[in-house]
Amino acid sequence: MSLLVPRSPTSTSDWIRCPLAYTLKREWRPRGGIWTPNQLLGTAIGDGLSELYRGGSDPEEVVRRALSEGYIPNDTWELSALVKLALRGYERASQEELHREGDVLMVDEPLPSRARPDLVQRTPHGIVVTDTKVTLKGGFRYVDEYFTSHQLFHYAWEVGEVLGEPVKWCRIHLISLTPLQTLLHPIEIRPERLALWLEGAKKVWEEMASDAPTARFTGCQTRYGPCEFRDACHVLDLDPDRIESVYERVPLRS
Ligand code: SF4
Repeated sequence: MSLLVPRSPTSTSDWIRCPLAYTLKREWRPRGGIWTPNQLLGTAIGDGLSELYRGGSDPEEVVRRALSEGYIPNDTWELSALVKLALRGYERASQEELHREGDVLMVDEPLPSRARPDLVQRTPHGIVVTDTKVTLKGGFRYVDEYFTSHQLFHYAWEVGEVLGEPVKWCRIHLISLTPLQTLLHPIEIRPERLALWLEGAKKVWEEMASDAPTARFTGCQTRYGPCEFRDACHVLDLDPDRIESVYERVPLRS
């Protein structure tokens, strides 16, 4: 029997959405996409908080550096405005001092599957995993969706495996930049629900190891918009020469 290889939450979620999208995403990306700062703001604030949780001396400098390294010049967003926005978000989130709520065991440390929970602590309530999420705007509309988050249950399972003791709670530390507000949203990890999740996750990991990627039309149009490969599948018929007119190759990761 082959050894089961757990995949990261992002890879697994991509496969669940559509195995073909999972494969295409590793090879192609749309040409000339409009750059938006959402992901960079999340990275910069997350890096600053990690520095704070590790006891680093200048987390704000870490926020500034992450922004200037990842910034792409554009006509809509000035770097100085993004720095201001990110620092406000960082400052608000840091005031909650989550790292003081228990012993810090891991900060943004890669697990065997390459998943990286932001903060793992031993607290009076048991082992707690915290994941930081930053939204540029929109507040906390979708917070209830985290109750069944694949990513959080993956963290709970893998951190439990690595530490040899169960994770009791996962929580989302939500940071909204406009309006500026934060929310701590805890989800209890009951062993029964974790076992249910693991049964399903193992099945997907088995598929990922053995099955050829196939199309899953339920992922073509979601409430977040169309799949980025809709043209590749439904107009260009997956012909690499034609795909190249609309998409560009993703550089190989070193
Ligand atoms: S357009 Fe549909 S079939 Fe094609 S990759 Fe996206 S989700 Fe899969």
